[in-house]
Amino acid sequence: MSQTTTRYLAHLTWPEIAALDKEEGVVILPIGAVEQHGPHLPTLTDTLIVTHLLDVALARLPAEVRAWALPSLNYGKSNEHSGFPGTVSLSNATLNAVLHDIAGSVASAGFRRLALINGHGGNVAVLEAAARDIRAATGLLCFCIQPSFLVEPPFAISEQERRLGFHAGEVETSLILAIAPDLVHMERALAHYARFPDTGTPLFFFGPTMTAWLSRDWSESGVFGDATLGTAEKGSALIESAADRLATLLTAISRFELPARTKGS
Ligand SMILES: [Zn+2]
Repeated sequence: MSQTTTRYLAHLTWPEIAALDKEEGVVILPIGAVEQHGPHLPTLTDTLIVTHLLDVALARLPAEVRAWALPSLNYGKSNEHSGFPGTVSLSNATLNAVLHDIAGSVASAGFRRLALINGHGGNVAVLEAAARDIRAATGLLCFCIQPSFLVEPPFAISEQERRLGFHAGEVETSLILAIAPDLVHMERALAHYARFPDTGTPLFFFGPTMTAWLSRDWSESGVFGDATLGTAEKGSALIESAADRLATLLTAISRFELPARTKGS
């Protein structure tokens, strides 16, 4: 069996999975979303991005690194994009319950580490809370890899795009142009920067004083950012850098141990 095949846990049979040495190693669950991404990108955008980045990173792992990806969870918590046809959202409670059920199965198979790798901003808070609960409930060492780590652009990006281009803008458009160009309609790509009111305070969409935003309140098209700046070249450069960083991170996670406790602690 080739090394590539063994990176995908569900390609193995149960006796093969039973026989895996699980002392080191990490099981990886990619989590995406099905939600509007403007008039030019497919609703599967976040899932396409996270699964592709993971595929490329897995192919770069040294053979001795023990890492196995589960089939992706293609739906996430996307109610911030409700009202746009094609958005299919799980509730907070459902996504949390699914994560716990999957983690319980991973733990009962004898694995010690679970990494949640997330392609969608709306899942961030759910995953952080679930990861801690999974750690407490199952004993698994549980890790979250969030979109802000995955999609950090290696190319120059304007301050406006960095601040307000957080959905279906330059970065995501570039990535899908590189990953699935047939699914992109650049003739419909547009630019939209939401005009967040200046209140003289740090109040914003995100951060320490955040606004619970719904995209329909801020963008008729569903776009936040300048999609016309997207190119396949930028997307390829981002995939290159992200896959390297992700492979390094997964290697570290696969061997991660808690600090040894002193006697009696
Ligand atoms: Zn997205």
